This record gives sequence, structure tokens and C-alpha cells, in this order.
Amino acid sequence: QPALVWFRADLRTADNAALRAACRHSAVVPVFIRENPSPARPLGGARAWWLHHSLASLAARLEKLGAPLLLLTGDPARLIPELAASTGASAVYWNRRYDPAFQEADAGLKAHLADRGIVTESFAGQLLHEPTRLRTGGGVPYKVYTPFWRAMELGIEDCRPLPAPDHLPGRPADGVPDCEALESWQLHPFKPDWSGGLQETWTPGEDGAHARLAVFLDQRLQGYAERRDIPGKPTTSGLSPHLATGEITPAQIIEALSQSDAPAAPDDRSKFRKEVGWREFAWHLLVNDPDLVTSNHNPKFDDFPWSDNAAALAAWQKGMTGYPIVDAGMRELWQTGWMHNRVRMVVASFLTKHLLIDWRQGEAWFWDTLVDADPASNAVSWQWVAGSGADAAPYFRIFNPVLQGEKFDADGAYVRRYVPELKDMPDRFLHKPWDAPDEVCLAAGVQLGVTYPKPIVDHQAARDRALAAYNKIKDAA
Ligand code: FAD
Repeated sequence: QPALVWFRADLRTADNAALRAACRHSAVVPVFIRENPSPARPLGGARAWWLHHSLASLAARLEKLGAPLLLLTGDPARLIPELAASTGASAVYWNRRYDPAFQEADAGLKAHLADRGIVTESFAGQLLHEPTRLRTGGGVPYKVYTPFWRAMELGIEDCRPLPAPDHLPGRPADGVPDCEALESWQLHPFKPDWSGGLQETWTPGEDGAHARLAVFLDQRLQGYAERRDIPGKPTTSGLSPHLATGEITPAQIIEALSQSDAPAAPDDRSKFRKEVGWREFAWHLLVNDPDLVTSNHNPKFDDFPWSDNAAALAAWQKGMTGYPIVDAGMRELWQTGWMHNRVRMVVASFLTKHLLIDWRQGEAWFWDTLVDADPASNAVSWQWVAGSGADAAPYFRIFNPVLQGEKFDADGAYVRRYVPELKDMPDRFLHKPWDAPDEVCLAAGVQLGVTYPKPIVDHQAARDRALAAYNKIKDAA
């Protein structure tokens, strides 16, 4: 009898246990549903753009394998049982997604299908570990990364991802409704179409993911431990948006890393594995504290005196704060849908500490603009920087954006790429153009307050203000 495979956050054919399970059947209907209503937060603009291209790529792949992808819009709780009934499917397979918003809906659908005698099987794959599995010696979820990682790392190299099927059973002869046109979903922007920079930077889809992994292993793994903090050079993998859409799995990445004979030091390999582990930790935290996206993990921060400053928020969003490393990061985000991790930390610290703006405002902007926007990594990272999260950076550690720029963008390549109005500024003043003598500014074609903003806050004053705000909540019960 036929089977349905419901694709969700797993837009791939390899290491896809649900798809493999369907191969045992006489026919298969791979289906993706644009969920309406959806129990989860709607995708932001950048991820919607990615989804469009990722679905097009998946559809082409499934077509070649012999089972075209069906696109539908509506409520899966209604559509999946209807599709099973019309095609005579005896089984429905999917890979688990861990966003707490989906848990109840998926469990409800499973029970509903079981009542109708339809087998439902769900599989792991999005993560290396089920996020509820690891527990401390005291039997509770981890809150600190290092012991979590120590527990997680055991046996991590034994990953055995599944190969893609060579071919799929065809579709059932009857009962498959018409496929909606992907274009009609209008996932990519028009009027205005802001996706040019994304298009130039990324190749969404399974092939794009594996091509990126190969480039990373061949060209960037060697020296990763030391160079991964340099935003001006391509030193990291850029795999995050592919992971967010499930075009590649962490198991595939870890296996490829183990098998790669790139001349990388053990430190490079272990550092990279440990970064992949942060994504697991974020999901571990979110699944065990589902309110993490909207609520402070540390309730002391509920009384934090956040500032409601729309003009400062807008300057941060547009990359017009007058701090070159912050502005470069925010413009990289706007142009490419991605930002280097070091700079994410700097801009997040700047928003929450220099501008005293609630981390949730930054999280929401990232959610809309990041191609890798991920409910767990985004919220956990924002709370980590803001100081309100589990295992968070201590609040009083306030990044100095000038020193961060000078240290991690010493040759100025990053700032010059994204803040071209400063490109002729000598290195010595690039990260603090306000210190440059008039004749230097003149020679560089920089007129502060005209061609590039003056700093919207003074670092020292902002730092003092942030610490004073923190002191108000620090001793609260
Ligand atoms: P690599 O250095 O190549 O790392 C490999 C993989 O490890 C990444 O693809 C990612 O899956 C994982 N990883 C690396 N660092 C982290 C980290 N600190 N936390 C969680 N996973 C990590 N990452 C997201 O995937 N989605 C988000 O929405 C997101 N929001 C963030 C918000 C803030 C404020 C900060 C400080 C970080 C955020 N990160 C987020 C984490 C990190 O910045 C990105 O995962 C990383 O920059 C992706 O680039 P890469 O794939 O080249 O990383």
C-alpha cells in the first residue's frame, strides 16, 4: 500500500529516515504543507526566501527519483488524513521537529491517524541527540555547556547517516490532488525585491549544502580553531542556513569531518565539532524551557529597565550607529541574510548594553533577516549575550566595539567591505573614525555626521549606564 512522507524541516533526500521508510511501500507521496494555520511563529522574510529555493531544489530531486513533491496549503491535521484516505495510504512518515509549538500538533495528528488504522512513524535526524535524552547526574536537563558537551561528545564519531535512495516507488495511480504552484506561495520578495545579495551569496538546497561542506573541509578546516573569529575572511562553514532548513544533517557533517583527510590539526576538528554541539545545546535548552524565545531564562531580568528607543533601534537595524564594526555586521546581515558569529555577539551586546534595548527586539530583527534564523540558537544566543540566559556571559562583560573591531578586523577588510564610505580611512582610525584628525578625514573623504554617522552613544557613558541598570536587578531576590 502507498505511504505518505510529510516533509517539514528536513528538505533533503539523504539521511532522511522517513523517506527511506517509505521506500518499503508500493507507492509514495512526498508532501510539503504550507501550514495555515500554523502553531509556530511565521518564518521571517529571509528564511521564506530560502524556503522557496530549497523547495524548488527538493522538488527537482524527488522528481528525478520518481516521486514528485506535492505542495499543499492548509491545516495538516485535516490535509494529512484526507490525503491518506484519498490515496489509500497505510502509513505516514515524518522526521521529528523539536520546536515546542509543533509538539502538541504532531502528537495530536499521530493519535488521530492511529484511530483510523494508519501507521505513523517519526524519526530522529535533525539533531545528533534527542534533546530530552541527556541529563545531568542529578537527572535534570543541563544548563551549562561544558558538561553537556562532555556527555554529548561520547561516541559522537559513530554517526552513520543514511544514504539517499537510488529511486523511489512512484506515486499512487489515484487520489493525489493537484500540486499548488510554488510561485503562487509568494515566498520570495517582490516590490521591492531585496533578495539580490542573498542570491549572490547562497545556493539553497541539498546540493548547495554539500558543496559548502566540501569547500569548508578542503579550504577552511585547517586553521579553523584560530581563524574562525575573523569576520573579514571566509573562515567558517556557512552551513547554518542549510542546517536550519534540514538540507544537511549534523550526522552527515560529523561523519564527513571524521572521514576528511584535510591537513587540519586535531584542535581544528574538535573546535568545529564543539560548535556544532552549541546548536544541540540550544535545542536542549529550548525543549526543556519552551518559553525561552519570549521570556528571560533568569527571571531577575524581568525587572530590567529596558529603554524604548525607536530611533536607536532603527539606527542599529540599518547599520548607522557610528560604530564601524557594529554597522558592518548589521549591513552584512541586511545584504546577505547572514552575519559572522563574532560580530553577532558584538552587535547583540551593543543593542542590549550600549542601547539598553530589550534582547527580544534584536531577536525579532534577526528572526526576520537571518537565512539561518533558528528558534533555539537565536533565542539562546540572544539571552546568552544579554546575560539573562542559562550559562550566560556575565552581564558586566560589555564588549568594547572599538577593541573588538581592532582585534578581530585588524586589517579592516570586513568594515571596508560593508561600510564602503570608510574604505579610505587609515587602519589606525578605521574602528574609531571620530579620533581621526580633520585632515585625515578630509583625505579619506569622510565627513562625520554627513557621509558617516557620529557615534549614537559614547562607549564609556553607555557602559556606565548599562552597569547601573544591571545593579538595579542584580541583588533582587
Ligand atoms: P560554523 O563556525 O561553521 O559552525 C558550524 C555550525 O555549528 C553552524 O552552522 C551552527 O549550526 C553551529 N554553531 C556554531 N556556533 C554556534 C552558536 N554559537 N550557537 C549555536 N550553534 C552554533 N545560529 C543559527 O544557526 N541560527 C540563529 O538564528 C542564530 N542566531 C544567533 C544570534 C546571536 C545573537 C548570536 C550571537 C549567535 C547566533 N547564532 C545563530 C549562532 C552562530 O552565530 C551561527 O550558528 C554561526 O555564525 C553560523 O555560521 P557557520 O555555519 O559558518 O558556523
